Amino acid sequence: MKKFLSLLYQPSCDNCKVTTINRGLCSKCYSKIIFAMNNYCNKCGFYYKDIGFQGLCANCVGNEYYFDSIDYCVVYNDMVYSLIHQFKNHDSLHLKVLLSSFLIDKIRKALNLQEVDIIIPVPIHYFKLFLRQYNHMSILGNYIAKQLNMEINNLALYKTRYTKMQKLLKLSMRLKNLKQSFSCNKKYRKIIENKTILLIDDVITTGTTVNECAKVLKKYGAKEVKVLSFARVDGILKCV
Ligand SMILES: [Zn+2]
Ligand SMILES: [Zn+2]
Repeated sequence: MKKFLSLLYQPSCDNCKVTTINRGLCSKCYSKIIFAMNNYCNKCGFYYKDIGFQGLCANCVGNEYYFDSIDYCVVYNDMVYSLIHQFKNHDSLHLKVLLSSFLIDKIRKALNLQEVDIIIPVPIHYFKLFLRQYNHMSILGNYIAKQLNMEINNLALYKTRYTKMQKLLKLSMRLKNLKQSFSCNKKYRKIIENKTILLIDDVITTGTTVNECAKVLKKYGAKEVKVLSFARVDGILKCV
């Protein structure tokens, strides 16, 4: 009976569904993951070969962002897209375990947990929430907070406008599209005041979303905003 059950519940790869020994990714899919490098810009997280001025990449010297730092786990590629897409749009919520494991690992290695007061996930508009039934980043955030015994708030930050999908827009329109599209819930402002916030997102492309979120959090008194993303598109930020 045990053997029969183990056959029924044979684990499969979270991405390509091939039968595996353990849960998670098969070796072929795992080999496609490109982890974030060590040598990266203190401000934007961009990988650079040579140490720049004060640990900053050329793009960040003279550029001011609202967030204080960016960390990410993996470089965005087809494999990473597939995982995020399944998690976000196809109810593959079991992927929270796999995706969170990358983020938890990064939090442990790159951040001082004592310094972080609260996790805040990048919000989605309530209309999207209605359509999709869940904010995938809240699901990840809740899971991470539980595992690491951290505080989380899914309501303090919210999206005020329903914005077009960023990837469908040209760069110049992306900035415009997201400007003033986030705000802070009055009821929860005390939670933000003077706090160090860990803002989490799935993919960083131009950095506009996290920069706009950080702007609002700072406006309402956040002391520091550290950004952590699961993935990052290779390249410099284009949010300022
Ligand atoms: Zn696989
Ligand atoms: Zn930089």
